Amino acid sequence: MACKREGDKRDFFRIARGEDGSVIFDKTGRAKGRGAYLCRREECVELASRKKVLEVALKLDRPIDPSFYEILRDELRRAEGGRADVAQDPLGSRLRQEG
Ligand SMILES: [Zn+2]
Repeated sequence: MACKREGDKRDFFRIARGEDGSVIFDKTGRAKGRGAYLCRREECVELASRKKVLEVALKLDRPIDPSFYEILRDELRRAEGGRADVAQDPLGSRLRQEG
């Protein structure tokens, strides 16, 4: 959504807002409440963090803690090893070089 990219659901992180206004990384995609999707790409995580995209999408009244984005980055790094289709993604090779 940050970069208006379309694709399969598993290419996105789902971020949900809890009833108490907390931000949840919804790994299963089944958490209740308002949700936002973010591409599983490092640059989109960066963009969301810089531009407060998730805060706006989830209508949060306070900024998301930077540690939340670290969770997403960790998840990206972990997924790199396990996904065969990363090799077909030009960004995937760039991520490996940076990472
Ligand atoms: Zn994106």
